[in-house]
Amino acid sequence: MQTIVVENGKASGVTLADGTLLKADYVISAADGYTTLYSMLGGRFVPPPVKKAYDSWKLFTPLIQVSFGIRKPVPTQFPVTSILAKGKTIGSTTLKNNFMLMNYSFDPTMADEGKTVIVIRYESPWEKWKNLEGVAYSAEKDRISEDALNLLEQYHPGISEYIEVVDVATPKTTVRYTGVMNGSYEGFIPSKKNFGKTLDMTLPGLDNFYMTGQWIYPGGGLPPSAQSGKWAIQLICKKENR
Ligand SMILES: Cc1cc2nc3c(=O)[nH]c(=O)nc-3n(C[C@H](O)[C@H](O)[C@H](O)COP(=O)(O)OP(=O)(O)OC[C@H]3O[C@@H](n4cnc5c(N)ncnc54)[C@H](O)[C@@H]3O)c2cc1C
Repeated sequence: MQTIVVENGKASGVTLADGTLLKADYVISAADGYTTLYSMLGGRFVPPPVKKAYDSWKLFTPLIQVSFGIRKPVPTQFPVTSILAKGKTIGSTTLKNNFMLMNYSFDPTMADEGKTVIVIRYESPWEKWKNLEGVAYSAEKDRISEDALNLLEQYHPGISEYIEVVDVATPKTTVRYTGVMNGSYEGFIPSKKNFGKTLDMTLPGLDNFYMTGQWIYPGGGLPPSAQSGKWAIQLICKKENR
């Protein structure tokens, strides 16, 4: 979807990247909030509280996930461990607090029998990534892969020889798959500025349109994002007296 079509103050469909027009009675955007407001709707329906939120509320620092496919079982009682490692460097990121070591042995859908997936996850600021492209980007991913493997060795000595596959997902990967602003994986970070606040799912001057997803609810995450879809349907039902 590229643009939301507005006719007489009413959302009436969407156009796709190839120019196809899809007409609709209602439009619900579940895409990135900033892109929806400023690109798909061209910035024409941004009320002051929403503008203030996007201008001033802080975002979550994006995540890097290094996933290892391991050719042997690695049983554990601790699926998720948070390891304090302030000052440690992985690739060119210096950790502010910690990294997570996540062992998915408990989940048979994550790997074939006799194999395991372990993930190392940590925060890396968007500023580091936004202009990183091409050879420099690939080199950084290689460095991350190497450093993360050395880290994994410290907790599972000898594991390197069982590694079958390594996948490095960066903040840019998150953006590529979801379009999310600045790789902010849960949108606005809760703070005293926005605690307890939500952004309206409707926009003044634009009928038959609803915003859903993590951007209407500081803290984001899966629960409010999923629930906002239900709220959008309830609002439509109310409007249609159903
Ligand atoms: C590594 C990682 C770990 C996380 N861990 C947790 C966790 O443990 N618990 C938790 O609650 N949350 C977690 N989250 C956050 C959670 O995944 C998000 O908050 C949630 O998925 C947001 O839902 P959403 O529907 O708003 O957006 P998304 O899930 O990002 O969905 C947006 C969809 O819109 C599509 N889209 C974007 N632009 C367009 C366009 N122009 N046209 C068509 N389609 C488009 C995208 O492809 C995508 O499918 C994590 C996120 C990441 C990245």
